[in-house]
Amino acid sequence: LSVLNSSTKENINIGTIGHIDHGKTTLTAAITKILSEKKLANFVSYDKIDSAPEEKRRGITINLMHVGYSTDKRNYAHVDCPGHADFIKNMITGTSQMDAAILVIAATDGVMPQTKEHLALAKAIGVKHIVVYINKADLADNEMVDLVEMEIRELLGTYGYDSEQTPIICGSALAALEDKNEKLGKESILKLMDTVDNYVPSPERDIKSPFLFPIEKAVTVPGRGQVLVGTVTRGKLKKGDPMEIVGFGETIKTAATEIHVFKNSVSECSAGEHVGILARGIKPGMIKRGMMAAQPNSTVQSNFIEASIYVLKKDEGGRKKPIISGYIQPLLTKTCSIDCNLKIPEDRGMLLGGEHATINILLKSPMTFLEGDRFTIRETLTLTSCTGVVTKILP
Ligand code: GDP
Ligand code: MG
Repeated sequence: LSVLNSSTKENINIGTIGHIDHGKTTLTAAITKILSEKKLANFVSYDKIDSAPEEKRRGITINLMHVGYSTDKRNYAHVDCPGHADFIKNMITGTSQMDAAILVIAATDGVMPQTKEHLALAKAIGVKHIVVYINKADLADNEMVDLVEMEIRELLGTYGYDSEQTPIICGSALAALEDKNEKLGKESILKLMDTVDNYVPSPERDIKSPFLFPIEKAVTVPGRGQVLVGTVTRGKLKKGDPMEIVGFGETIKTAATEIHVFKNSVSECSAGEHVGILARGIKPGMIKRGMMAAQPNSTVQSNFIEASIYVLKKDEGGRKKPIISGYIQPLLTKTCSIDCNLKIPEDRGMLLGGEHATINILLKSPMTFLEGDRFTIRETLTLTSCTGVVTKILP
């Protein structure tokens, strides 16, 4: 199978989103079936996908199925979630951050509540590209399909996606799976994958944006100074470049005296690289976990953010009681821990385990966060009350 020796192709993460029963799982199975005929996938049956095994991430139980297949161009890792709750948890925990999503809409129903909710969440957490598949075309006439297409284009615009350029493919996943109506079935699947291949650009490391570097730790090198260790989030840094260290409302001016990759001194580093940076004039104790090094004047610090959160149930390691406004606990990212105060919207009142909400969070000090940053809120080492993703930096 070419899927087994195609390691030179790039990998793209995608998944199916959309309202329950609109055909996400049928479509996932149909894609593997049609591509298996070209020896680019192993066929994975509907039943296999829908009996997705339980995965535990950060204490949360998520049912989701990873299916792998290839086109002539790429390898795809595709996620299909059996239930709405699983979908929400998967998106918020970032178990599989999607480069693009296939939005499935049944022509028979049109836009439904979960269609909107999934699209809104996809946008909030940074899924950049959507390809739409209007399904169940075998049950709808052209007029219905046209109406649904108009409805979707409007919805895409509402949630900040390109309402005109987003491709829409129409077909029947069931027909493809059952080898019926070649035009609505097989051909629509081939067209869908061809569209995904061409419309979804290759994910790139962001080396153009200003340099940003969350500091994992600062190590004292005797006789030299402080070496900041971490992975470059975005941008480039050259030896000698000025930097600012930001966080907790502080801004410390410094410069990169030396850059190390493993044990070698290098002249520059860029996004994705794990490096050590010798920072001029920095004394032991000046760097706190949660600070970042950045190109001067390229970041903002704010103590107010909007986030999409999921509240863990008790049997997922969460708390017994609901969360109410004014709940104060440490918020943790990979490199930061800071006390925060949750502002639950008044119309929600409180949040119970298993619930999901978009809320505002007040931080104890101004920090640099990026949209899409993941975090947890932890009461003790064993109790994680929430998991979330930053959706906006508020003024
Ligand atoms: P999901 O909840 O979005 O994963 O939806 P499923 O894939 O489980 O499909 C829900 C139901 O719709 C199942 O009974 C499918 O057989 C049926 N279905 C899926 N695609 C089509 C289609 O193209 N045409 C018709 N007539 N039924 C379909
Ligand atoms: Mg399903």
